[in-house]
Amino acid sequence: MAVRPVLTIQDERLYQVSEPVKKFDKGLRDLVRDMFESMAEEGGVGLAAVQIGVLKRVLVIDLVEKGFIKGAFINPHLIEASDEMQEGEEGCLSVPGLSAELKRPRWVKIGYQDLSGNHKIVEGEMLLARAFLHEMDHLDGKVFVDQLEPSIHKLLAGDIDRIKHGLPVEHAVEPRYRNKKKTA
Ligand SMILES: [Zn+2]
Repeated sequence: MAVRPVLTIQDERLYQVSEPVKKFDKGLRDLVRDMFESMAEEGGVGLAAVQIGVLKRVLVIDLVEKGFIKGAFINPHLIEASDEMQEGEEGCLSVPGLSAELKRPRWVKIGYQDLSGNHKIVEGEMLLARAFLHEMDHLDGKVFVDQLEPSIHKLLAGDIDRIKHGLPVEHAVEPRYRNKKKTA
C-alpha cells in the first residue's frame, strides 16, 4: 500500500500519451490500489495513472459521495457522447490551486476493461461524464487548463505559468477561478 506523489503540470510526463495495458496481473492491481490511496490522500474524485508517473491507460474514479460510482477503468475509450453540453467548473490535482469553467458533453458512454481484462461498458452523466472525459484526456497527454476557452485561459495564463514552474498560484484572478473543488 502506498500513497504516491501526484505530479503537477511542471512535469513533462503529463504531456505524454499513456500506453495500453496488456497484462492484467498483480502489478496492475497494485497500481490501482496505489491510485485509489493517492487520490484519497489528495481529496480528489478521479486520477489517471500518469498523474503518479505511470504511463499506462488506467484511471480511477470515486464519486460515491456525489451519488455516482467508484471504480477502476482500464484502457477506457469513448464510444459515444451527447451533443448536449454541460457547463461546469473543473479542477485537477495536477493543477493545484486553480479551477475554471470548461464545457463538456453532458453524457458519455465509455468502453473499458476491468481488473481481470473483461470488456465492459459504462454510461455517465454530469459530474461522472466530466470526470471520465477529464481523466481520459490525461491518458492522451492533455490537461484541462490547455483546453479552456481563450478568454478564460488568458485570464489564468499567469497562474498556469506559475504552476508549470513549480510556484504557487498568486490568486490574482477572480474568486470564481480559485480552487473550490478538486475534480481529478
Ligand atoms: Zn486532472
